[in-house]
Amino acid sequence: MNIKVNDNFKNIKETYLFSEIASRVRAYKEAHPEADLIRLGIGDVTLPLAPVVVKAMQDASAEMGVKETFRGYPPESGYEFLKQAVSDRYSTFGVSLDLSEIFISDGAKSDIGNLVDILGENDIVIPDPVYPVYVDSNLMNGNRISIISGSKENGFLPMPDSITEKKSAVIYICSPNNPTGAAYNRDQLKEWVEYALETGSLIIYDSAYEAFVVDDLPHSIYEIEGAERCAIEVCSFSKFAGFTGVRCGWTIVPQALKAEDGTSLNKMWFRRQATKFNGVSYPVQRAAQAALSEEGMVQCMENIEYYRKNAALLADVFDSKGVFYTGGRNSPYIWLECPDNMGSWEFFDKLLNEAHIVGTPGEGFGEAGEGFFRITAFGTRESTEEACRRLAGIL
Ligand code: PLP
Repeated sequence: MNIKVNDNFKNIKETYLFSEIASRVRAYKEAHPEADLIRLGIGDVTLPLAPVVVKAMQDASAEMGVKETFRGYPPESGYEFLKQAVSDRYSTFGVSLDLSEIFISDGAKSDIGNLVDILGENDIVIPDPVYPVYVDSNLMNGNRISIISGSKENGFLPMPDSITEKKSAVIYICSPNNPTGAAYNRDQLKEWVEYALETGSLIIYDSAYEAFVVDDLPHSIYEIEGAERCAIEVCSFSKFAGFTGVRCGWTIVPQALKAEDGTSLNKMWFRRQATKFNGVSYPVQRAAQAALSEEGMVQCMENIEYYRKNAALLADVFDSKGVFYTGGRNSPYIWLECPDNMGSWEFFDKLLNEAHIVGTPGEGFGEAGEGFFRITAFGTRESTEEACRRLAGIL
């Protein structure tokens, strides 16, 4: 062929993380077939959908099989019934949204990856460690990226003072964070919003884990005054309602967001979605609406509470052993410092060999993750309790 490909893909690092984990686990299982492995590396939910969600999906599917209630293409940015349900959820945070600012999608990953389509040449600021999609989607577009590092000192919550050159940029913030579980408080987010307004920057705020917040922390960046003039927020039904396999999320692009030349980002995102996306299926949108109903919230929160209890059990072990960690509250993730100055992979091997526990080495999420380790609360209660006993024995 004589076609050219996007050379920027050559700048994306191959991720060996999960294949390397799989190969070390495979080798260990072959050598020790009797070992009872506990997998706490999992970033996916494990509990089934809430009953009210299943019922809504079934009812909507039945409607699709009847001439009078059959529906064809959905509106590109989502049915009004679901946008209204999202808007009502934001009202509980004291945030008022116009329905035209809400865009329903098949999940946060697609939206995060696709947002680069509407942005031009900008400096990009991304915290480290973090969800790898921000870095890779910008690399695919040939964008310049500056990294701001999380550390034990800043509690894995880098602040604007870690940016070396104060100028406009697209800044990614994930709170509560994957993988560190750390979450910004109101004052810290206010500092970010003020910095963005002062420098003319855009914040892309990923709140995929907001449903895990129990303390008095913001669920949405729009709880901070002025954020509607500098932030896009991406969220998801994946973690809140167990939709990782169902696929539904949303993005808020406020009407007040204007680029340097006055262009409306809301209009651009609408155009982008209308061109390249044909909407989320009707049964899925009805299921998502059910998750946000009063009954749905109760049922979904029961699942979140289950994971939160797992996280608390694990956190108790690290507290009792004096291990430094972030997360464990307001998040399904615990991000711990590997004991005795061990490297991430060294600790991975120790946990696998001595406790038969599989976690995720921190360096897989960025350079600042070296020497740290992610353990998740998405296991069963029984396996989490057993993991706690084993961890207490080896730490
Ligand atoms: N954002 C973060 C921080 C995540 O950790 C994940 C998934 O693990 C996503 C977004 C993806 O969400 P979705 O399933 O809606 O695509």
